Amino acid sequence: MKEYEVFVAGEWVDTTVGFSSIVDPATGNEVSKVPALTAKHVDAAVQAAQQALVESRWSTDAALRADVMLRWANQVASNVDTLAERLTLENGKLLGEAKFEIGHQVNVIRFNAGLARTVSGRSHSLGPDVMGVVVREPMGVVAVISPWNWPITLMVRDLAPALAAGNAVLCKPASQTAGVSVEFLKLLVECEGLPKGIVSMLTGSGRKVGQLMVEHPGIDMIAFTGDGSTGKQISRDAADTVKKIALELGGKSPFVLCADADMEKAIATLVRAIFTTTSGQICTAPSRLLVEASAMQDVCQRLSQAIAGLKIGSGLDPESQMGAITTRDQYEKVLSFIDRGKKEATLVAGGEPVEGVDHDVCNFIAPTIFTDVDPKSPLMQEEIFGPVLTVQPFETDEEAIKLANDTPFGLASAVFTQNLDRAWRLSRGIKAGTVWVNTYNRFYAETEVGGYKESGIGRMAGFEGLNEFTQTKHINFDSTV
Ligand code: NAD
Repeated sequence: MKEYEVFVAGEWVDTTVGFSSIVDPATGNEVSKVPALTAKHVDAAVQAAQQALVESRWSTDAALRADVMLRWANQVASNVDTLAERLTLENGKLLGEAKFEIGHQVNVIRFNAGLARTVSGRSHSLGPDVMGVVVREPMGVVAVISPWNWPITLMVRDLAPALAAGNAVLCKPASQTAGVSVEFLKLLVECEGLPKGIVSMLTGSGRKVGQLMVEHPGIDMIAFTGDGSTGKQISRDAADTVKKIALELGGKSPFVLCADADMEKAIATLVRAIFTTTSGQICTAPSRLLVEASAMQDVCQRLSQAIAGLKIGSGLDPESQMGAITTRDQYEKVLSFIDRGKKEATLVAGGEPVEGVDHDVCNFIAPTIFTDVDPKSPLMQEEIFGPVLTVQPFETDEEAIKLANDTPFGLASAVFTQNLDRAWRLSRGIKAGTVWVNTYNRFYAETEVGGYKESGIGRMAGFEGLNEFTQTKHINFDSTV
């Protein structure tokens, strides 16, 4: 059990202000205690951030920002194992995935540290005596509000470019994984050169601390990753103070599997992406498999074989191939979708509790597959966020595109085929921010991610990801007499 202090407006705050506890979803044991902050802390953080932007060189000195961020990346690189263990304890994911999650941030932070020195504008000759200079400036004070499923990845995805662009950032991590988030941020706030107040950690519930941030007139931008309904509420609440918002929300991603695909690779990739990676609790999870009808039977058989005998258990056990569902609420939500599926569709695999575990305290759910699902059923239209896959047949590419686009979401997708023309046609037809061809869940610091339709507003990562945290200003010089 670890008790955390958080860094607010340049001061450490401990749990005497009140706290929330974090429970290991694989055992039910309390593992972390984190301060539950109040409006007073939010105000102090905003004020310190505004002051730091005025009094320090942070927003104008790109080399300073790059240096601080490179120091931070080195600190992260030296602490991967300790941070990964805490991440698994709080989230329930496999330790290998946790190490990947932490380790990958070194690359993301270094990429953004490099980008910091590329922020630039342009100039236009607008007449013999007129010059327009367009400068790119930071937004100001940015709130980064993040979820629990990939808590470090999704915090850094906004925090690193926001800092690189010269903003001050107030991080509000998800309560369920706040301990590891605070431990990760400690490595940043202790970096030499970071002006006091530029980064604060605002732990506490979303409804209280999160909402206070969204409504705060001193905050200029909200970068939010999380559930669609929370995102819509944030859009409404942020409208009163006309804040810029970037939203990365849920998904119901289609995996289009053509009969000519390399089936072995396709099935292994799919099982990894919807079941063993974070037990399906990942926004890009390919929860809808669309299979060319002629391959339907073969694919269902292969899938059932691939998941039979998968070892589900504690993320810290090296034998485990799939970890726990992170929260009790999420566990119950997934089970209610499975119950519904059993009534209205055909259960192909799973759907039963995992044997040999105490279901009163441990959140384990077996990989579950349904066919014959009504396309308009919540099973097919809503994000389940767990290890549940629906399978639908298609006859033509046009039908595949229609089915792929038949939900309110448009976050990610995949096309598996060995025919390049088909891959191109299908990729262009699918309305989603990412289409992976013969692969899945490949993320790079260089390439943007984001949602079509109800999956979000704005783009994160890559060059657009940095620009998202800036605004332009036209300075006009007119020396006409
Ligand atoms: P959530 O919306 O419940 O919470 C996300 C964050 O928002 C948390 O820090 C929470 O405390 C805070 N919050 C909650 N209510 C708030 C409010 N009214 N005002 C301000 N902040 C508030 O989401 P979750 O359950 O933590 O995460 C799962 C969801 O996140 C899924 O829907 C998943 O698809 C989505 N997600 C999206 C992406 C993406 O990149 N598109 C990535 C990962 C997760």
